[in-house]
Amino acid sequence: MSNVVIETLELPKYSIGVGDRFAHQAKAQLAACIKASGAGVEVVPVWNKSNREHTIIGTEPVQTREAADAAVKEMGWKNPYFLDADHINLKTVQRFLDPCDFFTLDVADMIGQPAKPEDVAAFLAAHSELIGTVTIPGIAEPFHTDKAFVEGVADKFLAAVQNAGEIYQFLIQNKGTGRFVPEISMDETDLPQTPVELLIILAAISDQKIPIQTIAPKFTGRFNKGVDYVGDVKQFAKEFEEDLAAIAYAIKRYGLPANLKLSVHSGSDKFSIYKAIHDGAKKFNAGVHLKTAGTTWLEELIGLAEAGGNGLAIAKEIYSEALEHKDELTAPYATVIDIDESKLPTAEVVNGWTSQQYTSALRHDQKNPAYNPSFRQLLHVGFKIAAKMGPRYLDALEANEATVAKNVTANLWERHIKPVFLGQ
Ligand SMILES: [Zn+2]
Repeated sequence: MSNVVIETLELPKYSIGVGDRFAHQAKAQLAACIKASGAGVEVVPVWNKSNREHTIIGTEPVQTREAADAAVKEMGWKNPYFLDADHINLKTVQRFLDPCDFFTLDVADMIGQPAKPEDVAAFLAAHSELIGTVTIPGIAEPFHTDKAFVEGVADKFLAAVQNAGEIYQFLIQNKGTGRFVPEISMDETDLPQTPVELLIILAAISDQKIPIQTIAPKFTGRFNKGVDYVGDVKQFAKEFEEDLAAIAYAIKRYGLPANLKLSVHSGSDKFSIYKAIHDGAKKFNAGVHLKTAGTTWLEELIGLAEAGGNGLAIAKEIYSEALEHKDELTAPYATVIDIDESKLPTAEVVNGWTSQQYTSALRHDQKNPAYNPSFRQLLHVGFKIAAKMGPRYLDALEANEATVAKNVTANLWERHIKPVFLGQ
């Protein structure tokens, strides 16, 4: 008989979620992580693509796996990397089982569904430490709670955490213990969770024996797709630090994995809070997972436009189609985009643009007066148009690979990895 050593997959301290909608940018994305290694900081890539995106584009998770593996092999990446089944539940998880080793358990739909009264009562009985004065190291002012408050939070979140427990058990049975990184996401819900709510939720997650390595709360402020943070940066910084303190405390108090960290969803392009994220993580010696997705698709468009010729023509065609199908494209993202229709140029105007006019409007450079966030947000949700073009779009990506890759890499490295993980 031989001893079988079960290795637990562990997510390193710093990781970046990279979305690759058309599975053509894995190498360019990995190149940004290689630049971080060159600067002395390990930032590992996690390729994330949600069920919603696979469905809209008509792809399968196994294609993301093939693209990631090929890029890692070709570029000689020796550090860990992961494939995230992003925002899955029991209904959608099946096709992600084999290719993925990171699972984002999405329980947002269950938040607010009342838990069984006897389960809430049992939770309260087991967690008297959460009732009264709750002192967390790292947070100056203790929290004051009472039984009614904790009962209210448990009632709001317990059913969701129990649901996460069911998905986790399903994954254990189908992939095996330690064979994947579990994350719980609660970002796609109406209200942000306060730090004390987060602590109560972590206690419940521990009770369900889910060894989460990342948790994605909904933070204060608006995290619109592909554009900067909208909200009170000081308040964000305060709550982010308190969340970090709550996590550090929960790791010790409730025996959660030592590498448990915050996952910032819709994390791309939130330039005004990157300093707060970097400083908070430094202060608590905490890790960060920054999830980006659609920002890479926009860099594909920028690269095509910059290349001129057929690339620019395709970028213009995508805008004009997106404008025509605006309502249908924006509907699924209504809560996470703010488009000012009066700022959208007509198709005729855009069709007359040079490469530079197109890229200036689209590229996320707030110092450029031509930058147009409404134009950018419409194109952000316009990837369905490119998906419908099929081989015509993919051929253009391949024909202009160098220009596209240069933009994809620079965006992740300069605008995301440097400020968040290196503090530059
Ligand atoms: Zn999310």
